[in-house]
This record gives sequence, structure tokens and C-alpha cells, in this order.
Amino acid sequence: MDKNSSNKTRFVFVTGGVVSSLGKGIAAASLAALFEARGLRITMQKLDPYINVDPGTMSPFQHGEVYVTDDGAETDLDLGHYERFTHATMSKRSNFTTGRIYESVIRRERRGDYLGATVQVIPHITDAIKSAILSLRADDVDIALVEIGGTVGDIESQPFLEAIRQLRFDLGKRYVAYIHLTLLPYIASAGEIKSKPTQHSVQKLREIGIQPDILLCRSERPIPQSQKDKISLFCNVDRDAVIDAPDVDTIYAVPLSLRNGGLGSAVLEHFGMDDPEPDLSVWHDICRRIREPERVVHIAMVGKYVELADAYKSVNESLIHGGMANEVRVKIDYIDAESLEKDGTDCLSKADGILVPGGFGQRGTEGKIAAIRYARENNIPYLGICLGMQLAVIEFARNVAGLEGAISSEFNERAEHPVIALMTEWEQEGARIQRSFDSDLGGTMRLGGYPCRLQQDTHTYAAYEKTEIRERHRHRYEFNNTYREQLEAAGLIVAGTLPDNSLVEIVEVKDHPWFVACQFHPEFLSRPYAPHPLFAAFIAASKIETES
Ligand code: GLN
Repeated sequence: MDKNSSNKTRFVFVTGGVVSSLGKGIAAASLAALFEARGLRITMQKLDPYINVDPGTMSPFQHGEVYVTDDGAETDLDLGHYERFTHATMSKRSNFTTGRIYESVIRRERRGDYLGATVQVIPHITDAIKSAILSLRADDVDIALVEIGGTVGDIESQPFLEAIRQLRFDLGKRYVAYIHLTLLPYIASAGEIKSKPTQHSVQKLREIGIQPDILLCRSERPIPQSQKDKISLFCNVDRDAVIDAPDVDTIYAVPLSLRNGGLGSAVLEHFGMDDPEPDLSVWHDICRRIREPERVVHIAMVGKYVELADAYKSVNESLIHGGMANEVRVKIDYIDAESLEKDGTDCLSKADGILVPGGFGQRGTEGKIAAIRYARENNIPYLGICLGMQLAVIEFARNVAGLEGAISSEFNERAEHPVIALMTEWEQEGARIQRSFDSDLGGTMRLGGYPCRLQQDTHTYAAYEKTEIRERHRHRYEFNNTYREQLEAAGLIVAGTLPDNSLVEIVEVKDHPWFVACQFHPEFLSRPYAPHPLFAAFIAASKIETES
């Protein structure tokens, strides 16, 4: 950890002030995109001050979607932004919570690793945080961007701030930059943008020994130069380092907007690094596709957490990407599965395509099944994801294959026809999935990337144009192979399986314009610059629907 370390990875720490929800994750990811556009190699990390060891046990109402990495970590949804805005692959090392840090320190204490010392927040917790951050150093990483969750001044985030303060001391100024994201509220009655909350927030940071190098200022309106000069003087930050982050019409315009403000250049100058012209052509193309659609495609998304947009963050973004691939704007109509259960399928009459996303628990499942039946019987394009695949199998079993009362054993352990079941209930030779059935709730699922082999002559194969794919999972239950032959005979197509054929991963319905349901979560692999094949094909099929 000395200044002469041969490791040249530099660190950008992004903190937030004034209020939460300023879009710190998107700002950090956009800055990373600006570095990549200059040919620099980046990685990213999120430090979350809450006590949960990971967000896997949190309700989507609490914390939005749980994002899953290829190596099977259940993480904060900001990691989704990181992967969507950059080419970096996130991993278990990309997200640490207070709970995870404490868990590791307490485990070491119990093992006697601290040799009789009193174990304390400083230095033991802060050292554990520092080593989590420093684990990002690698020969192929020029800049690591680390976002600190929460707002400066919170009790919970203090150990993280102390750790990043120490890192500047350990690594030197040229290796550590602090960016503070704040809000400049516009007070309509005074007709002014106010800088006082920003001054206070910077004071809070300075109290703990962090002098921000760059201030990124969110505001509804352009910030006058006179205001920037004042902020610069009062907050002790260079004039060129007080940067606007105005509201924009799409999150994918943020990299271009921050480029206009000179953010990338300000950081590179701080590091004393070259600042070549960034190639932002992909971002221009992405924004053009979003801003100039040929027409609108309506997708009905039938789910349980429909009132909270963040709960299906990656699915929402993937649908937008699917629209971009087809030069259309996707309008998502969120439909509450329980209302549909009561009021029927009339709410689906305007849908050009229907999507049922992942989910847990029985509430609303009959409504989702009704929506799937509607899509199947009326030839509406359907994309089912995880629970949306399991329910498609159930719907098909009940209404086509005549297996009355077919269900998942998640909802009825004693069902006569558990067409979806825990693998242990019917496990057979050959199906070898790494799965730990611990006594606690963490880690009991099939998580992360698994290979899948596709059948040719399927809609799925036509979308991917290859036979070997890899997709990310997060579920406990599986397609029950006991029913495979019977369902296939009735017209269910198994379009993808584990390469050894032991687990069904994708199903389709015969003689339907486009009905694809997958056990995995394709939304974790869609990128604005590379829309996911299934979302692109689903929107293409739904676009045809708008013509009819
Ligand atoms: N509840 C289902 C399972 O555990 C589906 C999970 C999901 O949709 N992510 O298998």
C-alpha cells in the first residue's frame, strides 16, 4: 500500500450530498464510459452502508431490483448501470455492504487472527474496507471508480468515508480523486439556484478530512458562471472542477452531458494523465435511436411490484434497448397481476407484446397465468422471464396438456402435478448444479452464469444465431423433467437446456408467432450498445403486431 507500489490503478471515489436519489450510480457509470471512450480500462465498485450482508434478502419495495453478476453475487442495482454503461464485468468484489465487512472482521476475530487486540472500527473495519477497495487493483485496470452509497453526514457511511480518506494518504493525490455529487435546488419564488446545501455538504466532508477535488452539481437549470465561481471559492474547489450535471431526457445522454461539462478531463488532469479526445460515437447513436423512433410499441408488463419502477430496472432498460434495436420507442404499461386476477384480461387489449418478469411467492400468480393464456391464445408475442417461464409451463400444462391443477411446488408442496419443482424433489443423475442449501436465507438459489445449448429451428435460435449461450440465473425451482415428454408431446418446445440436457432452460409454444420463456434473466446481459437478442427479437415481433 505504499506510494511506490508498482500497481498503477487509480481510484475515483464518488460521494453524494444534500439528498439521496441524485443519480450517483449513473453519474459514476457515465464517467466510466467517458474513460472507456478514451481507451482507458476501468472497473467499478459500490460500497453500501446498510447492514444486510447483501441485498438478496431485501424486498424489491425496499431496495429495487437485485442485480446478479456472472459469478453469482446478488448485488445493488447500481451494478446494472455500471455494466450497461461500460464493458466491464462486475463480480463479487464489486459490491460490499457494512454487513459483509463486519461479517468478515467478526469471522477473523473468532478465529483469533487479531492476536488478542481489541477489535475496533478504526483500524480493523476501515482496514477491511480498504482491502475490499484495493482488491480492484490489477494490471489491466487503469481507473477504478468506487461509489459510496448513502449521503454524506449519515452515521452509517462514516467508516467508508474514513477508509477513503486514509487511502489518499496511503496512495497519494495522483492516485486518488474525490468527486462529490450534490444538488443545487432552484427556488422559484426567489428565481435563484441555491448553493448553501452544497456548501454545508462539503463542510461535512471536510470535517472528516476529505476535500473534494470535483463537485458535480445536479440542477434543473443551467448554473450561471457567477454561481460556479461562488461555489468554487466557498468550497475550495478549482473553478474548472465545479461541473454542471443538468437534467437530461434519457439516462443514456448523461455521458454526453458530463463530457460537455468537462468531467472526464477534470479527473484526468487531477491524475496528471493524458487526455485524448474521447470517441463518443456510440453514445450519439444510442441517443439518436431513443430520440427518433419510427413509432411506439406497447408492452404490457404483468408483475407484482409494478408501482415501483426500480423493482424491474434491468427489464425496463432491456426493453428500451430492444426498442432501440428496432428503431421504435417501447412504452411499458405496468399491469398489477392481482388487479388482472380480479378484473380480467381487458387491460391487455392494447398490448403489442406481453412480458411476465421474475418474482417470488404466490401473490398475483393466477393473474399472470391468465395474461400468459391470453398471449398464447391470441397470438400476442410473449416473453417470460424466470417466474414468467415457470408460469408459462404451468399454463401450458393446465390448459393444453390437460394436467389439471398443475402448479409449482413453491406454491403447493403437495400438488398432484408439480410441473415446476425443487430439483431435490426429482433430482436425477447428470444434473449437477452447484447449490448450497444453508440454514440461512442467503445462497440457496441457482445463481449466476450457466451455459445453455439452443435447439435449431426455434425462435430463440433465430434470435441468438448461435447454439452455445451463457445467461445469469436467480431462482430455486426448476422445470420438472418428469413432465418433459408429456408437455413436449402436447406442443411445448424445449428450445434450450443445460449442455448435458439435464435442465430445461427455455421453452416455446408451437405454432405461435413468438412465445419464448426462459428460466434465466436475459435482462442482466442487455446493453444499450448491444441490445440482448431475446429483447430485440421480442420487440421485433411486437412491432409486427403494431402493423396489424
Ligand atoms: N420464485 C421462482 C423460483 O425461485 C422464480 C424466481 C425468479 O423469478 N427470479 O424459482
